[in-house]
Amino acid sequence: MSTDRVPVRDNLVDVEPYGAPQLDVPVRLNTNETAEAPPAGYLEEVARRLQSLALHRYPDRDHVDLRAALARRHGVDPSQTWAANGSNEILLQLLQAYAGPRRRVAMFRPSYSMYPELCRTAMSEVVAIDLDDAFQIEPEATIAALVDSGPHVVVIASPNNPVGATVAPEIIVDIHDQTSALIVVDEAYIEFAGPGASVVDRVADLQRLVVVRTFSKAFRLAGLRLGYLVAPDWVVNDVQKVRLPYHLDALKQVAGMVALEQESHFLEHRQRIVAERQRMAAALRGMAGVEVFDSSANFLLIRTSHPELFGALLKQGVLVRDFSSAPRLAGCTRITVGTREENDALLAAMKSVIEA
Ligand code: PMP
Repeated sequence: MSTDRVPVRDNLVDVEPYGAPQLDVPVRLNTNETAEAPPAGYLEEVARRLQSLALHRYPDRDHVDLRAALARRHGVDPSQTWAANGSNEILLQLLQAYAGPRRRVAMFRPSYSMYPELCRTAMSEVVAIDLDDAFQIEPEATIAALVDSGPHVVVIASPNNPVGATVAPEIIVDIHDQTSALIVVDEAYIEFAGPGASVVDRVADLQRLVVVRTFSKAFRLAGLRLGYLVAPDWVVNDVQKVRLPYHLDALKQVAGMVALEQESHFLEHRQRIVAERQRMAAALRGMAGVEVFDSSANFLLIRTSHPELFGALLKQGVLVRDFSSAPRLAGCTRITVGTREENDALLAAMKSVIEA
């Protein structure tokens, strides 16, 4: 018997492809990119280096030069680094290697909404542990839940998305020491947090710790799709068992290396973003009925009782991220910190909507 369609895998039947709306509006504050373009001279240098690429050959499968540069950045051995197409691909590779069917992945709720999606793709079971009402980890209850559920992987976002809060390194150490899981700390926004927030230096002494980073946020290269991990070398060996051959194209390897060489120029805008975050938080807190969560990232989570905030802001040309129907996030909206002008537009639109 012949049919004209093949049914999609059972756990994909009702799935909508993941992604925030990509709308052409004047002020786009919905995907936590950095508002400022890469520094002057970056694209010219990348273009210059591309001239000598042998594009008729496959790229360096092990991206040795890029990993050496990442290793220098973090004071580790190159065998402890690994890059992929965005930190999302890094996370997927970790789940493919360590989670998968009949294995469990613990994560917090609320946290980055891609984690359950990645688990579905990797066919792993999700163990969701609720944060408290201020969206902080409750250490004792968390350890108890982890000991009870015995996950193979624990994913912790610090700063957490969409909340913005960092997780204290002592809590991460405790979770590591009290479980036998791979502890994956997703530091996508760490460059916006204060000193001492990262646990990347602890990879040296915590045996099962993996730190995941991205070029999409403070490195101003969301369009490049480049992320990486710092981990014990056995993790890098295992991840290579699931990676596609030549997954990281030659152009991207060069673009990443040039960005690392120009790191100080790339990251120089952080203070402006942090200052704008503080200015926006204060202004939003001054609006009646708006609750603002503390953030160490380049975005703010707010809660209001306005039923149609997302649509009302969009009517004024401001695109934000609506979380109101996500678990535990009723009334919540996430706002990326943009340029001063974009932030002014957001604040003006918020004011008019809230006061209406
Ligand atoms: N982790 C977190 C917490 C994020 O918010 C994001 C992007 N929104 C990512 C990972 C993925 O980033 P990318 O794939 O662009 O590196």
